[in-house]
Amino acid sequence: MPTVVPLLVVIGIRVGPGGRREADHPNWALVLLPPPADRLSGDGTQREDFTLGSWHYDKCCGHDTVTPDSPLNTQRGVRLVTPEFAANALVVFPATMSILTEAQWEAFYDNHVRGHMPENRVNIEALNALKVELDLRTALASPAPVLAALRAKIAKALDPDDAEPGIRADPLRRWASFKTAQSIVIPP
Ligand SMILES: [Zn+2]
Repeated sequence: MPTVVPLLVVIGIRVGPGGRREADHPNWALVLLPPPADRLSGDGTQREDFTLGSWHYDKCCGHDTVTPDSPLNTQRGVRLVTPEFAANALVVFPATMSILTEAQWEAFYDNHVRGHMPENRVNIEALNALKVELDLRTALASPAPVLAALRAKIAKALDPDDAEPGIRADPLRRWASFKTAQSIVIPP
């Protein structure tokens, strides 16, 4: 059960080679590593060993978008890191980093990180196969119990919360299911 905190990073803009605007990601190498016992993976000698997954960017409010929470030339991103790593990062980057409460993180994740994603994943191939089978069995007047069983299977396929291939709820769409799927703990 990985225990992490949502570390919000306000990513600015820097001028790169040829005057190109680049996302000014923080230099994580400046952050002191916690003791290896605090690690989530690896051997505790890399910054990534204290981080769960990668960036969770604000996908709707980028550098060129102006909103009260995301002014021009800023984009918000979150890393899930161990509480100790977050504390060390805040020492180095107090102006651009902060720790979100779980409620703030849930709102950010559901609305800004994954807001553009559909709730469900649709398996067209599986649904088409069921449709074709139903059409053919109906045309051939298959026995009633066979048709009933097929209809029951189709109902399951259409249920996002049933494992039958067809329409499935995307566990990554919302923080609540993502958290459950990966057994993530955010301390209060
Ligand atoms: Zn946004």
